[in-house]
Formats: sequence, structure tokens, C-alpha cells
Amino acid sequence: IGVIGGGDVAIDATRTATRLGAEEVHLLYRRSGEEMPADPEQVEQAVEEGVKIHFLMAPQKILGEDGEALRLECIRIRLGEPDASGRRRPLPIEDSEHEMSLDQMLVAIGQSPDTTFLPDDLTLTEKGTIAVNPDTLETNLSGVFAGGDAVTGAASIVDAIAEGRKAAISIDRYLGGDGEIDERLVEAEEADPWLGQMEGFAAKSRVQMPCLPLEQRVQGFSVVELGLEKEKAVEEAKRCLRCDLRLQISPVTLPPEKWQEFNSQNISLVPETSGVYRLLDETKTIIYIAGTPNLRQDLEKQLQNVKKAHYFGYQEDPMYTKRESELIQRFLQEHGRMPELNDELLDLF
Ligand SMILES: Cc1cc2nc3c(=O)[nH]c(=O)nc-3n(C[C@H](O)[C@H](O)[C@H](O)COP(=O)(O)OP(=O)(O)OC[C@H]3O[C@@H](n4cnc5c(N)ncnc54)[C@H](O)[C@@H]3O)c2cc1C
Ligand code: SF4
Repeated sequence: IGVIGGGDVAIDATRTATRLGAEEVHLLYRRSGEEMPADPEQVEQAVEEGVKIHFLMAPQKILGEDGEALRLECIRIRLGEPDASGRRRPLPIEDSEHEMSLDQMLVAIGQSPDTTFLPDDLTLTEKGTIAVNPDTLETNLSGVFAGGDAVTGAASIVDAIAEGRKAAISIDRYLGGDGEIDERLVEAEEADPWLGQMEGFAAKSRVQMPCLPLEQRVQGFSVVELGLEKEKAVEEAKRCLRCDLRLQISPVTLPPEKWQEFNSQNISLVPETSGVYRLLDETKTIIYIAGTPNLRQDLEKQLQNVKKAHYFGYQEDPMYTKRESELIQRFLQEHGRMPELNDELLDLF
């Protein structure tokens, strides 16, 4: 059996042919393994089951039937620059034509919906799929909705289910409902805000999925991936990154706001250590830069004295006098003058 294509359907066809008793199954794909869109795990399992994959090979024409067999002319391919899909363009290699003899050939290079049964006044897209309003999935015919592969082109089950839900919401609204179709079977648990439950969880590797032994696999259509035992499933769940916690994190202010309001509550949270602080007026212009052996005490004093200050920022630093002159130098370079209150103090001295 020869199968032409490189997607999931092509791989499915090879594995089905194997199960139906084909002695040899050849898959012809015109690009290399890197560009192959099929799921790599499925490709690996197909190869384990004996499927022979011919990369960089394309069928040219069917030469005819030779007795029982079908003669297929193939050509070898080299890859050129990427095309619009981002995959490298397949270019035929001259004089590399050769024949392959097959009993049957399956073509899995794409699908399109059969829309012949639909009324003529239903609008289709250029691709031959059903045209819909992307927000409601309603077609141009009022009260007629469409979704799934017939709308998106070949996609996946989960996409089709999502479209089914979307269409159901729209249909509910169309019929006068509120579009609320959710059925909550269990209440969501309050998330524990601790990220990662165990030490070194990020380094834990994926638990291997047990599979049906090879000889049993190819004899029928039993499920190949057998599922995880409870113990292994719990082990695997411990690798969870807790992405759900992001739902509870309030959006950050970007760029980060480094100034706080100059009030006693904020000052009470400042450590009593050495460092440098800056005071700002209501327009957030720096009016004073100072180093101090005790940040909190100094700021409390300034709160009483400097009525002009509306915001402040601080940095802990044991070398606070050095840091103070660095910050003043930087301010001087940027503004060509001293901060307003530093200037007044300078005048005093
Ligand atoms: C070989 C193969 C393997 C695949 N493997 C996977 C996979 O592993 N994982 C995955 O997620 N997806 C896979 N897919 C894709 C997946 O099957 C589809 O994306 C999905 O089934 C689309 O769902 P749907 O409801 O839009 O269409 P369909 O599942 O195609 O359902 C359309 C239904 O409409 C019926 N119908 C058509 N015309 C009429 C008519 N005139 N009157 C009444 N009924 C009609 C058809 O009989 C069919 O039952 C695979 C597809 C193929 C072909
Ligand atoms: S998607 Fe869900 S299960 Fe997977 S890591 Fe994120 S929170 Fe955990």
C-alpha cells in the first residue's frame, strides 16, 4: 500500500492499512521529517509498526496498472527557500524519476467539504467552505449556523467541539435566550497560591505512557496508549506549572512605578537601615536626594518638614553617601541643575 501525504490523516491511513493486514505500507512525503505536520509521536509509532517513510519523494503520475499492480512514477525532491506556509519549498531533482509498484494507493493530501446538498443561496468561501460571521457562526441565511471542518477546513476534534459550543451560544441567543449554556458540574477549587508543590518540580521529567505491545497493536484497533496508573498520574500531575494562578494575579503596572505616596503608612513599611531616598513634588519631579544611616527615621522627619513632597522612593545601601552623590550627579547630568531642595541647602552652606 502506498500513502501520499505528511499529515495526521496520512499517518492514520498507514496505521489503519497495517491493521487491516497490508504486508508493506509506504508513506511518500515530499518534504523532510522536520516539515512534516503529523504528530511526531504518531509518526514514531507508525515506524515502530513497520511503516516505511520515504521523505523528500513526490508522486508524479500513475503510469497504469501492470497486471494487478499499480505503477507510480515518483521523483526525488530537494528543499528550497521557505514558501508562504513557512515550510521549505519542495523542488524536484532532475532525472531522479523512478517507479514504485503498489497494490493500492491512498491519497491524504487534504480534504474539502461536500457542499453539493446545500441550497444555492448559501454563501461559500473561495476555499469551498461555508462562509459564516466569525463572532456568531451564523451563515448568510438567517437562523442557519455552521461550524467545524465545513467552516474552518480540515482541523481537529477539539476545534470542532469549540465551534459547536460557540454556535450553540449563538443559537440560544437567536431563540431569545441569554447565551448562557455552561453547566457547572463541580465548583472550581480555591487555588493554593504556592507555585510548585515540591522542591525541584521543574526538573521532573515526563512520565512515560505505557503502550500496547507492538505485536498486539497491529492486530486490531485497540487503544495503543493505555493511560497512566493512579500513582503515575499523580506523579505526572506534580509537574503542573500552576498556570491557573495567573487568573488570580492582578495586572502589573508597566513600566513599574518606583514612587510611592509620601505618607506615614508607606513610611512605616520602610526598613530602619542605611540607604538613599528621593522626595518628589506633586508632578513627580525629584526635589530632594539624601543618604541616611536610618531611612525610616529620616523620612518620618521629612514628612513633618517638607510639605512640598508628595511622593518618595528609597534604596537600601550601606555605602549611602557614595550612592547619594551618584544619584545627585545623575540628576545634574539629566537636568543641568541640583534638585530644588538640595540646591536650597547648598545655598545655606
Ligand atoms: C483520517 C482522519 C484522522 C483524524 N484524526 C484526528 C485526530 O487524531 N485528532 C483530531 O483532533 N482530529 C482528527 N481528525 C480531524 C477530525 O476528525 C475533524 O476535524 C472533526 O471530526 C471535524 O468535526 P465536524 O463535526 O466539523 O465534522 P465531521 O466529524 O466530518 O462531521 C460531519 C458530519 O456531517 C455528516 N454529513 C455530511 N453531509 C451530510 C448531509 N448532507 N446530511 C446529513 N449529514 C451529513 C457526516 O456524515 C458527518 O457525520 C482526523 C480526520 C481524519 C479524516
Ligand atoms: S495547563 Fe493546567 S495542568 Fe498543565 S501546567 Fe498549566 S495548570 Fe498545570
